[in-house]
Amino acid sequence: MTQARFDRVRRRLDDLGVDALLLSIGADLPWLTGYTAMPLPRLTMLVLPADRDATLVVPRLEAPRVTPHPELFAIRPWDETEDPVAIVAELVARRRSLAISNRAWAAPLLALQASLPDAKWQPASIVTGPLRAAKEAGEIVALRKAAAAADNVATALVEGEIELVGRTEAAVSREISDRLIEQGNQHVNFAIVGSGPNAASPHHDAGERVIGPGESVVCDFGGTFDGYCSDITRTVFTGEPPAEFRDLYTVLEQAQAEAVGAACAGIPAEDVDAVARRIITEGGYGGNFVHRTGHGIGMEEHEDPFIVAGNCERLVVGNAFSIEPGIYIEGKWGARIEDIVVVTDYGPDPLNTVDHSLAWVR
Ligand code: ZN
Ligand code: ZN
Repeated sequence: MTQARFDRVRRRLDDLGVDALLLSIGADLPWLTGYTAMPLPRLTMLVLPADRDATLVVPRLEAPRVTPHPELFAIRPWDETEDPVAIVAELVARRRSLAISNRAWAAPLLALQASLPDAKWQPASIVTGPLRAAKEAGEIVALRKAAAAADNVATALVEGEIELVGRTEAAVSREISDRLIEQGNQHVNFAIVGSGPNAASPHHDAGERVIGPGESVVCDFGGTFDGYCSDITRTVFTGEPPAEFRDLYTVLEQAQAEAVGAACAGIPAEDVDAVARRIITEGGYGGNFVHRTGHGIGMEEHEDPFIVAGNCERLVVGNAFSIEPGIYIEGKWGARIEDIVVVTDYGPDPLNTVDHSLAWVR
């Protein structure tokens, strides 16, 4: 919501030869305008032509929620009897190369494609992804606050303050969620609690399973603090872990730490993934690390840059992303360690600082 962001977007439109950017629901719109559109079927769309001023097309009943920034964009409220697709199509006019929000509904996109048959469509992330991925100082401050709030909850977990044995995963998930709100989060985005064999399912839905002694418990949670997300995972063990689990955990801890250490400006994102994967493979668990090493984080939990094989984009100062390798043994147990890391001029700066060593809890 600053002139500087609009200027950066316009420069990128020029560089890419994109004639207009169309932003609907999703985080690109609040990042650029400060306005979050509710995910309603009624169309909200910022039309930003490369060669003209921007216009926010918004349902009349939503318009009072828009903070005006006349220096950045005009507001065009539409009435229930108007066709918002026709309004957008007219603002786009004869421009051919269009980039539209990755998360825009299909219905207005299909209607726009029918109205603008000569247009070439691309996802808005080609324009906004790299810009949003290089965080400004104020965004890093917000991410740091979000991470600190999550850290306070994770500390309660690893120090055994949150009781596990004898409670359901769902009850523990609710306690984690309540604690995130107590820590000042505006929203809880998720609170995964996977115990025993469920710990082998990376995105397990916390359910009615009662946590027992002698189990690994993977807790992965995050909230939104001042518009920016947190995301942390810690794995604890109820009671004394057997040697086999301690060995697995030692491999994981080393993989996570070395991948964090590799997260420096100029390094291709896929190389960070490769560091974690090599250590886990050498430890004998290559087939049990079934997901990418990490994802960018900001106004969304998952955004650019993705730390995955095939992403050869080089990391830049200001990138913020998770490093979260995991090892999952189906039917038995699993473990994951996740921190958010920011790339700085001086190397990787982990925002989460909760102890990584395997905690024995009750
Ligand atoms: Zn997570
Ligand atoms: Zn994550």
